Amino acid sequence: MKIVRRPSVLRREIIRLRKSGRSIGFVPTMGALHEGHLSLVRRSVKRHDVTIVSIFVNPLQFGRGEDFKRYPKNLKRDLGLLAPTGATLVFVPSAEDLYGSFFQTTVKVEGVSQGLCGKSRPGHFAGVATVVLKLLNLVAPDTLYLGQKDYQQCRVVDRMVQDLNLPVRVEMVPTVRETDGLAMSSRNVYLSADERVEAPKIYQALLKVRRLAREGERRVTRLKEILKDELLKATGCRIDYAEIVDATTLKEMSRLEKGKKALCAVAVFFGKTRLIDNIVLSS
Ligand code: AMP
Repeated sequence: MKIVRRPSVLRREIIRLRKSGRSIGFVPTMGALHEGHLSLVRRSVKRHDVTIVSIFVNPLQFGRGEDFKRYPKNLKRDLGLLAPTGATLVFVPSAEDLYGSFFQTTVKVEGVSQGLCGKSRPGHFAGVATVVLKLLNLVAPDTLYLGQKDYQQCRVVDRMVQDLNLPVRVEMVPTVRETDGLAMSSRNVYLSADERVEAPKIYQALLKVRRLAREGERRVTRLKEILKDELLKATGCRIDYAEIVDATTLKEMSRLEKGKKALCAVAVFFGKTRLIDNIVLSS
């Protein structure tokens, strides 16, 4: 497994790999890897000759007062986890290498960036879209692997790929969870022992909504009420948002409709720690 830090070196490697006709899968991450990340990597390794993983905590996607400075970092551990997966190359650029001092260009995806996390984290998805576009230009993969845990991020990137005719396929990989249902996240390490005990109630709330939807409840207002009540059963949980939206457009809806997928998505705080999760409702 090669470790590459400089974008120019990465480009050279990619040109060499492309010339030999090998297919490339790409998994962008911010490091502090866990089984969720590794499931994306393993899927790519299975399907491609070459798998590139990037580890980069992208300053552009963090707002003021967010956790950019304290975001967990442990490159040695990450590389140890990646080595046995069969990943070919790990790209670990510095912010200086990737953005330089004169960076002036950002990509803004409109509609799908606006609700949910876009509302509470202004500028976040422009930061995400910009770094993903830069990484796609450098890596030129056949397939980009993203996790469903960040469902809105998948939709934003998917939209950008379609709107800008980027020659890449986007594949969304299911959320990997701890045995108690908590979605794996690099941010789970911020939780205190007490918060960690309460946090699985997020997924229980999502499951309850899905069960009620399957049993025939179609009124979104009613489902959202139940969702919020269930979330608040977790001691110390503060709701940032708890929404049910059209799974493709991410626009609000008033009723679940047959044959139309809906997304039930939540963001909650435990203390300063912000956790997100979601489930797709298909009726
Ligand atoms: P991050 O390092 O948080 O930027 O995540 C990198 C990629 O891993 C993104 O595509 C995430 O959606 C994905 N990911 C993060 N957590 C999980 C999880 N629990 N299950 C599946 N994919 C995940």
